[in-house]
Amino acid sequence: MEEKSIARKQPHCLVLSHPFQGHINPMLQFSKLLVHEGVKVTLASTRFYINNLHININNNLPPSISLESISDGCDNGGIPEAGSYNAYLQRFWLVGPQSLVDLLEKLAKLGNPIDCIIYDSFLPWALDVAKRFGIVGASYFTQHVAVNNIYYHVLLGRIKVPLIEDEISLPSMPKLQLCDMPSFFFTYEEDGPVLDMLLGQFSNIDKADWVLCNSIYELDEEVVDWTTKIWPNFRTIGPNIPSKFLDKRVKDDEDYDATQFKSEDCIEWLQDKPKGSVIYVSFGSTVPFDEEQMREIAYALRNSNKHFLWVVRASEETKLPKDFEKKSEKGLVVTWCSQVKVLAHEAIACFVTHCGWNSVLETLSLGVPTIAIPKWSDQSTNAKYVEDVWKVGIRAPIDDEKKIVRGEALNNCIKEMMESEKGKEIKRNANKWRTLITGAASEGGSSHKNVLEFVNSLFSL
Ligand code: UDP
Repeated sequence: MEEKSIARKQPHCLVLSHPFQGHINPMLQFSKLLVHEGVKVTLASTRFYINNLHININNNLPPSISLESISDGCDNGGIPEAGSYNAYLQRFWLVGPQSLVDLLEKLAKLGNPIDCIIYDSFLPWALDVAKRFGIVGASYFTQHVAVNNIYYHVLLGRIKVPLIEDEISLPSMPKLQLCDMPSFFFTYEEDGPVLDMLLGQFSNIDKADWVLCNSIYELDEEVVDWTTKIWPNFRTIGPNIPSKFLDKRVKDDEDYDATQFKSEDCIEWLQDKPKGSVIYVSFGSTVPFDEEQMREIAYALRNSNKHFLWVVRASEETKLPKDFEKKSEKGLVVTWCSQVKVLAHEAIACFVTHCGWNSVLETLSLGVPTIAIPKWSDQSTNAKYVEDVWKVGIRAPIDDEKKIVRGEALNNCIKEMMESEKGKEIKRNANKWRTLITGAASEGGSSHKNVLEFVNSLFSL
């Protein structure tokens, strides 16, 4: 009997990111996974941001992913144009929804209608727009599932946490201290719009068709189980890093424009360094340090007598001590690099990081031990998990008076990590997590299954 094949309509997703490097990076990688599974993807963020990314986004997109932008009301200058991040958020929330409507209408007119908006959880109004158009809305959380849990319980005031150094008990989480809490916990007053944004993530979440999170079940079983009880369509789909560093499933996975960011220079510099001999240092795309903190880090690296590769963003370069060489026999300072590629290099021994969630996921996925210097936002909570839950790193102690990490303290951490038995134990743990995470992302693994479930639901629309 002749079998009738039913042609399935290819779903078209709009992936909409808040204008932060740490948001668009994982959302771009998730887009590649969707394309690999047969979904058509248009990636979008704000106009100014798309044109001014650290990475040249056009050169990073596989031909199958189109790029679009919406207005945040600051098309010519981004966040600085608004004067402050708080003012920026207010403007974006006012202008963004209509601009998103315009984009959806434009794509529909071009015969390219959107079936699903996968929106950054920082932009919950995108769900209201999706509902107006009668299309699927999937919230995408770029932060750690445990951090969602804290925001949900504490910022929303469900659980009152006393402002003393007590143990803080939240469902499905390890005991926390105040120093492990996200910084916004202490700045209710001055961070009004930021808090509104963080709380806004949950404002309409019950109406979202899917809640996707760049986390991994195996890393956080209890929190994920608990979260799934509250939001039954919650799914972990991480780590959203290029698949060529995991199971190599996705073709066309070439990352970052090497010529623009000289990441090849870093890789070339790493080539002749012995295995496990280089300290990689980077504090992400936004954290600023004062000159004193920069000096302490600089001298710690120089005095460590180890090889080091340090990313100091162009805006931070003037804070380096005048007598600190940017290229020496032992060290190299660059303004940006292809971080995942660097972490994957066998010369890397450990990663001194601010514990931005992407950096944590990348280092966990590549089995690189961590020295944590968290500064603000969710970084302290991530550092707590790195040190005490996954046991893949150590948190550098803070000088209580100046609230900075002293060079001597950092140097002790470097020695502990690279020369002690504890360092070896940490490396073994890091390798264990690497294997589990690669398994989760591979065919049949927990994250892969969740991605397929989401994609199948789109195909059955
Ligand atoms: N990153 C990079 N090159 C650099 C520094 C950072 O590619 O020189 C990437 C890094 O791999 C990560 C993102 O920028 O994907 C930073 O995100 P994270 O959440 O770690 O920190 P944030 O920048 O949000 O504070």
